[in-house]
Amino acid sequence: MIEHLIINLLVILVPLIALQFVLFEKNKDVKWPKASFLFNIINAGVLLVCMSFPIPFADGIFFDLRYVPLAISFLYGGVIPGCLTAGLLIIYRLYLGGDGLVTAVFFALLTGWVFLAQHKSYHMLPIRKKLGRVSFILFGITLSNLIFLYFYLYFTGGVNWDASKTSVYTFYPVVQAGAVIAVVSLIERIRYALNLQLQQSEMLHSVGQLAASVTHEVRNPMAVARGFMQIFQKEKYIPEDKKIFLTMMIEEIDRAQTIISDYLSLVKTNTSKIERLNVTELLSSLKGVMYPFALLKGVELVQKGEEEVYVFGDQGKLKQILMNIIKNAIEATPQGGMVTLSTVKGNREIEIHISDTGIGMGREQLRMLGNPFFSTKSTGTGLGLMASYRMAAEMNGRIEAESEMGKGTYFKIIFPE
Ligand code: ADP
Ligand code: MG
Repeated sequence: MIEHLIINLLVILVPLIALQFVLFEKNKDVKWPKASFLFNIINAGVLLVCMSFPIPFADGIFFDLRYVPLAISFLYGGVIPGCLTAGLLIIYRLYLGGDGLVTAVFFALLTGWVFLAQHKSYHMLPIRKKLGRVSFILFGITLSNLIFLYFYLYFTGGVNWDASKTSVYTFYPVVQAGAVIAVVSLIERIRYALNLQLQQSEMLHSVGQLAASVTHEVRNPMAVARGFMQIFQKEKYIPEDKKIFLTMMIEEIDRAQTIISDYLSLVKTNTSKIERLNVTELLSSLKGVMYPFALLKGVELVQKGEEEVYVFGDQGKLKQILMNIIKNAIEATPQGGMVTLSTVKGNREIEIHISDTGIGMGREQLRMLGNPFFSTKSTGTGLGLMASYRMAAEMNGRIEAESEMGKGTYFKIIFPE
């Protein structure tokens, strides 16, 4: 009896694995209907296995966890797969034959009907209520099934009730409810985690698109202004000693244009090109880019280590990761402080260190790093580090941070060599 129970319990966990694949594929833009078809087929298979290895209850009467895949079918597969699974259950039960056929068909229909009625409202519920509801339904159904069976046996007297096993059988509704709680909570957890991931990547995508369209809109008026300045440069009534200002204005606009196109190129890193990157060179070019910002804040930006180190990855991504972290470091550092960039060649790993002598972070704050919208700045977006963590992971790397309140912060970006 116990073996059969274990087979049942194990087998109902199979769709979870299938679900992982389904959702994983969904992320990878594989057509959703195909994947959900697979999920339903597997669910139906689970139902058949559950029913083929039932737990013997009395002569010709078996119990199994068939209601769990049935419930999952209705709640996570949809109405049509649910009805098909219920139909399959009844047909297979008829095929298996034996006593208690009428009871079995009746309870299959009842369960199907109850879950059909639940189908819509169920997904609005918070996880706890979902668990409460499905386990309550299954507990109720199995308990009434047991009671029904007891009276059936009592009145027909066809099969002997093994009184010594009564206590074991009463556990059955509990097992059923427990099994459905386990399955549903795991499914919900997986769905939650994957949904979060999906939302994050969607958000990143739209942030990128917004930035691209805004910069595009900013460029046009700047080009118009630059054009008029060039015209004024040729005007005779403007004294030569004033024209120098026009030249300066044009130069500044050009500088703004290059900054914008630099940022635009950062945003548009959808296509990743893997190549061997010279980290030392990249750091010194980034130091150049960030220098004006550091100067404005009164922070010294220094690079240590002359040795050239290389990593494999996408240049745009690595640039963006470093830029985000360096920018944060400069922002966190009060006037007169220092931000240091360095590289360390470890054992099969390359570490890029960015340290600052800034305000630092507490433990709780460190834990929140990389969460979307976590920002302690009035004008912060809380997206920089999230994007950096993601991109580092895409390059098989990771980011670690150590910090002490009031002393400073140490970021390590670690990549395989
Ligand atoms: P944002 O810069 O827009 O606030 P980020 O994702 O780049 O968003 O950073 C999230 C938060 O992490 C910051 O608001 C800040 O509180 C904290 N942080 C990041 N880097 C540092 C640092 N070097 N020193 C202190 N705090 C930091
Ligand atoms: Mg930032």
